[in-house]
Amino acid sequence: MTKRVVLIGHPVAHSLSGAMQQAAFDELGIDARYELWDRAPIELADAVAGLRSDDFLGANVTIPHKERVVPMVDRLTEEASSTGAVNTITREGKRLIGHNTDVAGFKVALDRLVGRQKMPKQAVVLGAGGGARAVVFGLIREGFQRVIVFNRHLHRAEGLVKHFGRAAAHMELRAMPWHESIIESEIAKTKILVNATSIGLTADVSPVSPEVLNDELLVFDLIYARTRLLRDADAVGATTLDGELMLLHQGAAAFTLWTGQPAPLELMQGKLAEARAGGLRSAEGEPTGEPVVAAAE
Ligand code: NDP
Repeated sequence: MTKRVVLIGHPVAHSLSGAMQQAAFDELGIDARYELWDRAPIELADAVAGLRSDDFLGANVTIPHKERVVPMVDRLTEEASSTGAVNTITREGKRLIGHNTDVAGFKVALDRLVGRQKMPKQAVVLGAGGGARAVVFGLIREGFQRVIVFNRHLHRAEGLVKHFGRAAAHMELRAMPWHESIIESEIAKTKILVNATSIGLTADVSPVSPEVLNDELLVFDLIYARTRLLRDADAVGATTLDGELMLLHQGAAAFTLWTGQPAPLELMQGKLAEARAGGLRSAEGEPTGEPVVAAAE
């Protein structure tokens, strides 16, 4: 019987995970089909309940459901419970296990970004959604001493900081309001800047003006494209990285959780590159209702 793995999001039509995961199943001769399930928040609980049947190996969960799905599974791994976000579900009998492989994906990306330099201790994170939670958890685990989180809706950043309260007790983790002058002064004090908002995903805009960037910065954008932020950062001589590596490695970790087999990384990377050449700029999921535009390379 062909097994099923589904991506649950809203919308999901332009997701890159389908091509990457299906190619990996086919390569390893695993009889499984990766399906895209576009489910509005109100349909989420039914969709998750449907995963308990024997047909399913599991699921990916993406925008906007990563936090909402947490109470709908039976058990959370350490990464999922620490972040309060689930991007991968596996099944043990009728029980569903929630994982967060974005954490592993971010770790690979952070190591690549920093390269041979000493791991910095301070970071500015833009955004406070599911992606930002994986980033902040990764930074805490990495031993960062000061992490400042900016978000358009301050209460969401405050909720994130509260969530990590105990894990971050030894360090300074703060939520700050989204004001350009405050962002500028914090970036001036830091080495790492992470964009975990979806600003730049559907339009060629940057979350910050180019003047706040400098050549000492290491800039990571979770979006899988050369966004305006990354191009502005390149222009001032900063070190930059886009979301491809994180997307690849979160997907590879999910593949292994579903199948118990190592993921064919090169093949999956090739599929992502093909999709990129085709002009898609999405990482995972697009903000509801907004069209995806071609990458401005
Ligand atoms: P969420 O929907 O959970 O969060 C979206 C974030 O973007 C929030 O912080 C939101 O702020 C902010 N935002 C959206 N639009 C605006 C705007 N116009 N102005 C200011 N802030 C805005 O999404 P995720 O956290 O899951 O994903 C965020 C981004 O990260 C996406 O682009 C996604 O593709 C990418 N991502 C990439 C991954 C990868 O593997 N490369 C993995 C996970 C995510 P507010 O709370 O105020 O609405």
